[in-house]
Amino acid sequence: MDNRKFIKAGLLASAASVMMSVNAYAGETEDALIAKVVDAYGGDSLTEMRSIRIQNNYKNSFPGQGYTPGYVEFTPLIQDAQIDVANERGSVEGWSANWNFNFNTRTVSVDDDIVAINYSAGTYQPAAAPDYYTAFGPVIRVSDTLLAYELAKRPETAEYQGATTYVGQPHELISFEIPNSPPLTLYVNSETGYISKMARATGFGDLTYQFGNHTSANGVGYAADFEFFVGPDINIISMSRTASVNSVRSTAFRIDRGIEAEPERIDGSEMSVNELADGVHFAGQTPAGGAGAYTVFVDAGDHVIAVGGYGGLQARYDAYKEAAGHDKPLRYQIVTHHHTDHLGGMADANAMGATFVTPANAVGNLNTAAGEDIPEDRLQVLDEKMTLGPVEIYDISTNHMASMALVYIPSIKAVFQADHYNGTYAGDVVSPGGSGTVALKKAIAALDLDVDTVLSAHGSKIIPWSEFEAAATNYDPDPCPGGRAICR
Ligand SMILES: [Zn+2]
Repeated sequence: MDNRKFIKAGLLASAASVMMSVNAYAGETEDALIAKVVDAYGGDSLTEMRSIRIQNNYKNSFPGQGYTPGYVEFTPLIQDAQIDVANERGSVEGWSANWNFNFNTRTVSVDDDIVAINYSAGTYQPAAAPDYYTAFGPVIRVSDTLLAYELAKRPETAEYQGATTYVGQPHELISFEIPNSPPLTLYVNSETGYISKMARATGFGDLTYQFGNHTSANGVGYAADFEFFVGPDINIISMSRTASVNSVRSTAFRIDRGIEAEPERIDGSEMSVNELADGVHFAGQTPAGGAGAYTVFVDAGDHVIAVGGYGGLQARYDAYKEAAGHDKPLRYQIVTHHHTDHLGGMADANAMGATFVTPANAVGNLNTAAGEDIPEDRLQVLDEKMTLGPVEIYDISTNHMASMALVYIPSIKAVFQADHYNGTYAGDVVSPGGSGTVALKKAIAALDLDVDTVLSAHGSKIIPWSEFEAAATNYDPDPCPGGRAICR
């Protein structure tokens, strides 16, 4: 870090007069406003800060992922972020336990690498985000203190954006940049110099970060209240936030004793089409850093039945037809459940004129994803059980969602399911299961299905029943399996 780039708080005295004459001196308006922010957040205590630890008790929602499509539940999220700003290292531990899943993970800088530790599984792997700002940018952006620090660190990227009234009070707007993010616009309270809000426009829409109830720790200011919005929707609420400055120890930046390298994952980076049996193909891809997207295509004579609706359906269908060596039409698309990530390919299916078979509670989200209300003659709403040529479809309920179309293909004794077990690891290594794995196993037993193979909407593995069963048996429902301080 280059301390010489910091603007010192001494410029504050001239701030008022400079702001009266925007553009008179390029950069001076920005410098004055930056100085005002730095002064509010502690002056030298901020600019010479070496590390900050921010502990959050959040409530977090996952849009489009509710138990029903009616609303989205909030789940607890405890987060312990330790950021060594002087050396650009981070350690961010998260913990949650709720109706849908438990997790306890930590993303941490270790020497020149960034690794992701999974305390539930007792494993680590390289983090999906390979550099400081990609891995820890999300933590920087939710902290007004770190935003003030970064603003002061890179004044050459700052641009004054004028004055406005926000929550009834005069504010000055200034935009600036940190690596690997669209520009950040800060709303600086004209009177106090505190940051009330940060806004940025991303591919996910307009994101708003709101800060309030400013206080200080070790002479450095921070907002004790925080909320995060995606578009108009509240996404994260901080129930409490505390901060401490220069308390992060270097022992945070290593892999804990007893945590082992994760088993080898299946490489799904290329599109694959796997012929499971005559007329049954399993196609899809797991893009680097993204969610796997897989569909089963069943040849039903003069047409094809597809199950699994992630985005990219057309590409999977094209790859399937090439592998199968025919050009049969997609007549039926089975919708697994109402979660919006599993409906990303429904516009493709609609364009192909497919008839949709769907749980009743997914129709609204299906119409939205398809881009129009599906006409009645192309909509078949699932009711308990339906037989569609070579496949059987059961409407089941688990902890993950109120209604899911579980597809059973009797000819190969296979089920296709979404989000209950992925089979992430290569070979015969059992992956960590969740409460959903246990719930699905119970639902399959209740239907008395004879299952040899489990297929997942998220992974290419042809999962033997024995592996699925072992994952359910191995699942430890203890929400704090590693005994970490964050969940005790
Ligand atoms: Zn889901």
